[in-house]
Amino acid sequence: MLDVAGISKRFGDLQVLSDISFTVTRGETVCVLGPSGSGKSTLLRCINWLERPDAGQIYLNGDRIGINNGGVVMSDRELSRVRTRIGMVFQHFALWPHLTVLQNLMEAPVQVQRRPAAEVREEAMALLAKVGLSDKADVFPARLSGGQKQRVGIARALAMKPDVLLFDEPTSALDPELVGEVLLVMRELAREGRTMVIVTHEMGFARDAATRILFMDRGRVVETGPPERFFVSPDTERARQFIQRYA
Ligand code: ATP
Ligand code: MG
Repeated sequence: MLDVAGISKRFGDLQVLSDISFTVTRGETVCVLGPSGSGKSTLLRCINWLERPDAGQIYLNGDRIGINNGGVVMSDRELSRVRTRIGMVFQHFALWPHLTVLQNLMEAPVQVQRRPAAEVREEAMALLAKVGLSDKADVFPARLSGGQKQRVGIARALAMKPDVLLFDEPTSALDPELVGEVLLVMRELAREGRTMVIVTHEMGFARDAATRILFMDRGRVVETGPPERFFVSPDTERARQFIQRYA
């Protein structure tokens, strides 16, 4: 499904990602854990080419992201089309403030994917029902709580019918009492077998929703394995220390 093959990235003198490789199979929920600055966000940004890797390739169902069939870097237009197959949910929601909730959901499917508005609207309303926000379709994001905004963010990502969903700390900007409602939606998606890569500091969620943990430190994948093993008997001292501190 998603193949990350030998991704490296440096900013100036700082090697942020060093030869990262892993595969996500259909239906997996991969949680990416690791200390601050270990390169988790940069990795997600490289996957959908918001950041251009210095080396390595990303394949989504066999198609190479960022480089087209002719072997040249994709145009912005090509990129934005291929990105609609990779849903992204951000820490700070990134909703369009001048569009209503429903319009936020419909924008990319209609404008980028060129799907019929009536069909998109119907699906968008079903997605809002799924995240418990049917009554908010016509309000603007400024009128929503953080937890509601993030549930809209998730519904908006789903509206593109992406092959894979990437989450970058979707709950870390929320007040503690609002975290649960967002994790509930994410647990449901995991249960449905959506393919997801989730950067998170929510250890409880990682422990019971992930099919696999990817532990990063200093730009490398240090350890990967099922949560039962990672949290109970990690292979590396670095992972052990991380778990002791956060879990
Ligand atoms: P956190 O848990 O704090 O979100 P992270 O694991 O997501 O951390 P990244 O945001 O990927 O870490 O950053 C990795 C390193 O790369 C950090 O040292 C950061 O300062 C640096 N970095 C990230 N983006 C840039 C950039 N655009 N220019 C220069 N340095 C950057
Ligand atoms: Mg980050």
